[in-house]
Amino acid sequence: LKLIEYMRFSFSKKLILFYITLLSISTLVIGVTGYFIAKDALKKKGEIILKNSVVMAMDIIRIQHEKVDKGLVGIAPAQEKIRNILLGPKLSDGTRKLHRRIDLGEHGYFIIYNLKGDEVMHPVLEGQNVWNVKDLKNKQRFLVQEQIYLALHGGGFMYYSWVLPGTEKIEEKISYGQYFPEWQWVVVATAYNVDFDHSSDYILLITLTLSILVIIVLSVIIFRYVNSVTKPVIDVAKGMEKVASGEFEKIGVQSSRDEIELLVDGYNDMIVSLDSAGKAIDKKNRYISYLAYNDEMTSLMNIHGLKSFVNDRINSGCGNAYLVQFDISGLKVINSTMGYEQGNEVLKLIGKYFLDTYSESQKAGRTSSNEFTVWLENVEKERIEAKVQAITESVKFFIEQNGYGQIMNMHRIMAKFPDHGSTFEELYEKTITALKVSKDRNDLSLQIYRDDMSLAVKNEVRMKRHLRNALKDHDFAAVYQKQVDHLTGAVVGVEALARWESEDLGFISPAVFVPAISQMNLIREFSEYIINTVLGNYDKLKEKYGNDVGVSLNISPSFFVDKNFYEIIKNAITSHEVPHEKVTLEITEDVFISDFDSISSTIDKLHALGIRIAIDDFGTGYSSLNYLTKISFDEMKIDKIFIDRIIEDPRAFQLLEKLCDIAEVYGYDLVAEGVETEDQLQKIKATPLRIIQGYYYSKPEPLD
Ligand code: C2E
Ligand code: MG
Ligand code: MG
Repeated sequence: LKLIEYMRFSFSKKLILFYITLLSISTLVIGVTGYFIAKDALKKKGEIILKNSVVMAMDIIRIQHEKVDKGLVGIAPAQEKIRNILLGPKLSDGTRKLHRRIDLGEHGYFIIYNLKGDEVMHPVLEGQNVWNVKDLKNKQRFLVQEQIYLALHGGGFMYYSWVLPGTEKIEEKISYGQYFPEWQWVVVATAYNVDFDHSSDYILLITLTLSILVIIVLSVIIFRYVNSVTKPVIDVAKGMEKVASGEFEKIGVQSSRDEIELLVDGYNDMIVSLDSAGKAIDKKNRYISYLAYNDEMTSLMNIHGLKSFVNDRINSGCGNAYLVQFDISGLKVINSTMGYEQGNEVLKLIGKYFLDTYSESQKAGRTSSNEFTVWLENVEKERIEAKVQAITESVKFFIEQNGYGQIMNMHRIMAKFPDHGSTFEELYEKTITALKVSKDRNDLSLQIYRDDMSLAVKNEVRMKRHLRNALKDHDFAAVYQKQVDHLTGAVVGVEALARWESEDLGFISPAVFVPAISQMNLIREFSEYIINTVLGNYDKLKEKYGNDVGVSLNISPSFFVDKNFYEIIKNAITSHEVPHEKVTLEITEDVFISDFDSISSTIDKLHALGIRIAIDDFGTGYSSLNYLTKISFDEMKIDKIFIDRIIEDPRAFQLLEKLCDIAEVYGYDLVAEGVETEDQLQKIKATPLRIIQGYYYSKPEPLD
């Protein structure tokens, strides 16, 4: 298992193991083959020696036979002489002492049988009959019989197993025999393989030793070579491991001019690219996490940044504190009159101001597009309003100094920690509620959150629910307020005003429900209904107020910018057959928050139909006299707030006179709204104003 692990994890080790195995196998194959070839050669040599020995023994026998034939010696001494020569002298125990004049190996010797299987000559068995002697391993073979047979057929080799003399071991033997017919002798030379194998063992030893030496030496060389070749590959692998943990290290190049060098070069190039790509990603990631908590435009914290800052402060046990919100509502006007870039410049300036005033106890964030929220600590309750006022003044001053003379309208709201909430989220929710209320009331004064504001918001939700049904049920009505020429007393026109008397909620002012409908995106349905109701009543209006009476309709900014607005108006006026020049559409300055050019072109189209356009509540909105030069209105309606103070405040009256001057410059008809008293009327008579719309003459009234 360890070996497998080892092989699995190292390329160089695998290579080394592979080479060494290959080397070992090939060396051993060569060695072992050599050994067997040598062994075989030795065996052949042994056979030749045996055969030659028998041939030589036959010569010796023949010489003695001839001597006997010639009568030089007796047959018995001649035969004994042969035994002496081939084996050795006979000892007293009947065995023969082998002198080994002829080399048949350490244990080899000659044997002679007669054809009956009697031992004519044998080192130990002389005189005995061995006709039935069998092979010690193969019990089927009769060795002597086989040998005699071979000898009678021209001589032959035999291979068999026999006891090694002086031991009990059974060893392989080889024998060769020939027949000497004159005496009917079978002459055999026998030898033990082990005697010849001595030399082959020696060969084996040398072969093995050499093989092992070669394997060791070559293994060392292979080891070094493979390591040197695979080192760069391993370096690359290690480098990659480091890359995974974020370290980008180059590898030293060895010029090997091969694929490995290409690999290392490629790796190093890759590391450089990865490193720079990684750095770029790091930078981006840092930037992204920066953006998660900060506002890019102003470099202030964003809402998440401020939230975590404030909650940290709260958790670290800070004392009384205030969350103060500055909603820059005036920004919309800057955007629409000067363009978004200028609006952004103003935001950046405000951001810079707050950034410059960062301190331990005062930190600000840009919490939504035109809203800045400041966390103020260590301010006494009595001083907080003055403090916020001071901040407001400073911001305005700072912006003015930087070339933006505009009066920056802002809603300012605050919630107190811990009275109004114990976390940023709770406090922020309270400021949002208070902001909504003061926006609905168009109240720019500094507001501290009160519980009744939440109630107001709840009421609004309730009202909106009812409004939806009111719209479905056409629960709205129109009332009409006269516009009277004070010189002649004639009613020159009426303004149509919407009324909603809710069964559950009672009377609700259009100043409240119309903006709500607008927020609910239902202004088109509402406006279509009112407009058609009013224009559908035009004949009755003529009956009541005279044939020349004009009718004024209030148009919400959100309806005015509706893409179907023009068609709806045109169709309504046409279908009710109202003379176009008798219809006046009242729009407020708020409409200019939207794209100026498209508004201007809609007005041009309406004018082309002969419809009149009045600017309502003049002087109360985001007044920028700028647009007066670009758009031709037909009528200017002077708001009640300018009329209200003309009696007691001479400056208010002067202002009214100036408004009349403006109207004269541009050629507008003038209507004064909210005239309630005789005094007011008398005062107005000193101005060019002739058309009066107010309770003095009449409240808005139903048609019948
Ligand atoms: P507005 O267009 O400026 O209408 C004049 C408002 O002044 C009316 O209030 C009218 O009743 C009131 N008014 C007139 N003379 C006097 C006076 O002598 N004394 C006092 N105290 N008030 C006087 P109203 O009807 O409550 O309407 C409020 C606003 O709601 C309107 O202001 C207009 O902006 C909006 N509105 C009314 N009806 C509609 C409508 O059908 N569509 C749209 N889009 N807005 C409407
Ligand atoms: Mg009006
Ligand atoms: Mg008005």
